Order: sequence, then structure tokens, then C-alpha cells
Amino acid sequence: MQAIVLNAHGGPEVLEYTEVPTPQPGPGEALVRLKAAALNGLDLWVRRGWPGIQLSYPHVPGADGAGEVVALGPNVTDWEIGDRVVINANLSCGECEYCQAGQDNRCKKWGILGETRSGTYAEYIALPARNLYPIPPHFEERLAAAAALAFQTAWHSLITRGGLHAGESVLVVGASGGVNTASIQIARLAGATVFVVGSSPEKLALAESLGAHHLIDRSQDENWPKAVYLLTGKRGVDVVVDNVGPTLPQSFRAAAKGGRILTVGNTGGYKVEIDNRFIFAKHLSLIGSTMSTMAEFKTVMDLIYIGWLKPVLDQTFPLAEARAAQQRMESGQQLGKITLQIR
Ligand code: ZN
Repeated sequence: MQAIVLNAHGGPEVLEYTEVPTPQPGPGEALVRLKAAALNGLDLWVRRGWPGIQLSYPHVPGADGAGEVVALGPNVTDWEIGDRVVINANLSCGECEYCQAGQDNRCKKWGILGETRSGTYAEYIALPARNLYPIPPHFEERLAAAAALAFQTAWHSLITRGGLHAGESVLVVGASGGVNTASIQIARLAGATVFVVGSSPEKLALAESLGAHHLIDRSQDENWPKAVYLLTGKRGVDVVVDNVGPTLPQSFRAAAKGGRILTVGNTGGYKVEIDNRFIFAKHLSLIGSTMSTMAEFKTVMDLIYIGWLKPVLDQTFPLAEARAAQQRMESGQQLGKITLQIR
């Protein structure tokens, strides 16, 4: 099969479009012929590498994908050849105390497609059949792939870990990425008042179209925590969604007393210097999470399928041009999800 592989860490130039052996499904696994994949910030981190990361080369990046079941390994009874499916990239053992409690995103052997196992930038992928969920007739694979990781991540963070409820105020730091555009919509659906800080009028227009109530352009107003403070009658917001990382000190400032700061990632870097005084003096909670449980994944995909939540689509690139797709992601110019068309 044709796939994008990397054999070393580095810049976009380490991504190679080449022929590799088509994987075979093992026990409990399905082979999926992919029609679409979607990019995530994770893909950039995996390509660049970090201390301690261990990939087995050649490594295929990519966590999100959708396509069609074309073969089944032994002991798979829930699926049939030809079923259209979306992939949940969250890999779990199904046996540990967390999996038994339905908290499979806390699995002791937790992993994720595209990092701990080869991913979706390929014509085919073999993966545990329990990581698949059906796509209804007429629903596009590209949309399902674009939704999967971002929406489950935002849902688990805001609803399950963040305990967001109607009437609260939420600030989303960043207007245009996959998880942030999902967070804006989920916060609206939960009945929250939504504030968004973004870096350009185009990105804020997108946030507004998704239902954001208050827009702050940080290219015009660098002191966005103060803008939030003033917009909330010198109170601050109940919840801050900060998946940037280095902005956490500003997020502490923008939060109300007793506020919750939610983080699922770090598009801007993973080392942050924190002024502890804000945490105790303002009674703040810093709440982390990653991905979601399988049950939440099904809930959120059903909301996507009925149109209550909508993935925002940026450009699509042919699989062979994954390098250009990642370069676009690194430029930060995208509005929503960048996808790969595979066939
Ligand atoms: Zn487990």
C-alpha cells in the first residue's frame, strides 16, 4: 500500500510518501481501507519528537481516519466486510481497572494511533475492531474523520472533567483549531456564555459563526485577560479552555474565583512557568484530560451525525501531499480541520 512514513524525527521533509507492506488484521482486529484522514497537533509533536518518545520505524503518523472494513481478523463478530466506519484513536487494553470501570482513556496500557502504533496516513490500517464506530449512510468519511479526535477530546474535557453547566461562562483561548472549534460548539450546546480570544478577524468571525458571544482580537489587544475581566464586570469566567500551554498564566488571570482551567494539550509548547499564587488565592482548579471514553465517543459522534455539532473543515490535500498539509498546520493559518483524501 501507499503510505506516508517517517524514519527519523525532524521537519516536514522527514515525511515520505512510499510503498509499505499492507498490514494484516490480528485477533480482534479489522483491516480498514481509509478514505479520509484528519490532521491533529499530535502529528506535529510525533514528527518533531520529544524526550522519551519511542517509535518503531517506519512509522505512519495520523490519529483520525474513516473508511470501509475490508478484512477481519479472528474472533471479530460485530463487523462485516463493507461496513463504513470512523476510527476512535484511543487505544486501551479492555482489562485493567480503568477499562473495567469504563474509563478506557485512563487505561494502564493507554496508547494512541499515530504515536504508540502506526496511524491513518495510509491506504489501509489494521486496528482493534472495538475502536470502530459506524458511519450512517450518506454521511461523508471526511467529516467523520475530522470530528473524531477533536470532538471527543473537547467533550470529555468540558462536560466530564470540567463539569460545565448551563449559565456558566467559558473562555476558549484560540479560535480556529479543531479542539477549540469543537469546544465553542459544545459550550454553546451546554448553555454557557462563550468568550473567545483569537489572533485575527477571520478566526474570530469563524468563532462567531459557531455561536461565540464575545470576541477578543489579541492582535489588537494583547492584554486579553484584562479584556475578559472587563467584559465580565470585573469577575472573570467560570471555565477557561487553554490548549495552548504557554498562555496558562494569562488564563489564570482571566478566570473567576473558583474557576476551572481545562487543558488537553499544548499547541504552543509543553513547558510553562506558573505563578502558584494565582492558584491558591483564586481557588483555581487546573484540570487535565486526554481523549474520551468509548461511551463518550459514541455520544459525541451521534451528535455529529444528527447535526447538533459540526466539524469545521479547512483544506483537504491528497495523501501524497501530507507534507504540505502539515506545513499548513504549522503555519497556524488553518480554519478548522485539515484533512487528507486517500481515495
Ligand atoms: Zn486498560
